[in-house]
Amino acid sequence: AKKNSFERFNYYRPYMEEETQHRLHMVRRLRADFAARKLEVWYQPQVDLSNGCIIGVESLLRWPQDDGSFISPAEFIPLAEYSGLIVDIGAWVIEEACQQIRRFDERGYGDIRIAVNVSVPQFRMRDFPELIEQQLKQHQVNPDRLELEITESIVMEDPDFVADILYRLKRQGIHVAIDDFGVGFSSLSYLQKLPLDRLKIDKTFVHHSDEESGRIIIETIVDMAHRLGLGVVAEGIEDEQQLNYFKQLNCAEAQGYYFARPMPADKLAKMLASEESD
Ligand code: C2E
Ligand code: CA
Ligand code: CA
Ligand code: CA
Repeated sequence: AKKNSFERFNYYRPYMEEETQHRLHMVRRLRADFAARKLEVWYQPQVDLSNGCIIGVESLLRWPQDDGSFISPAEFIPLAEYSGLIVDIGAWVIEEACQQIRRFDERGYGDIRIAVNVSVPQFRMRDFPELIEQQLKQHQVNPDRLELEITESIVMEDPDFVADILYRLKRQGIHVAIDDFGVGFSSLSYLQKLPLDRLKIDKTFVHHSDEESGRIIIETIVDMAHRLGLGVVAEGIEDEQQLNYFKQLNCAEAQGYYFARPMPADKLAKMLASEESD
């Protein structure tokens, strides 16, 4: 067995070094581009299914490249987490969200909420609730306009610690949603203990709503959320069939390419203005 693992080590080594080199290179580029203010926050509308109105937006990071392409957040968020950069980047995203809410207010969109994704290292930071409180105050933003999307991986960290942080956020009036609900490997007991507002049904479930087994999972989640008094958002709605299905389930809110793709702030402003004049 010893010989075997030695061989395996030798076999994998060049690949691993290359992989590590590449990762370090990307982290260096990400740090430089963040410092040079090249990262962007885009927004994707969330829609009230009863009337089609935009009731919120989710903020989604974008890393533009010199050639006009974008590196996917699915690729660079893990790098930002692993390098610790996510703490500063995340604080900046929240700051951007606060400024965006101010702009909404100035234009008279007084009830649009912004949902911000929060990573484990951010959440673990000392005084995370205070940091947010201070940013909200500085930008004169009502806390109930902000929603934090946290994943089950955060919830599973340390239940007492997480409960304490969530109650501190909750006391300020900030909303909390569970992102990618059902995708992780967590128990459901936290749903009973934590002060949550909404569950987000991940697009992987939504995209299986044309199958019986997919529908069983979705309907179980929606039913459970309703009975627990939680809101539900369906993520990744791409066509009318999916839209009608979630409407018929009395799912309150949805987000997806069918309504709008993530877009830069100026494009969102135009979309809201045209919605207003309809
Ligand atoms: P997520 O939080 O699950 O965000 C939803 C993802 O689904 C986004 O991908 C969005 O563009 C995409 N999406 C929305 N509607 C549709 C649809 O109809 N069809 C399909 N196929 N996809 C749809 P995106 O923007 O590439 O972000 C990927 C992930 O990166 C996010 O997944 C989130 O986990 C992470 N992320 C993005 N921005 C941030 C951030 O500011 N902070 C942190 N911590 N994570 C972020
Ligand atoms: Ca999210
Ligand atoms: Ca996510
Ligand atoms: Ca998701």
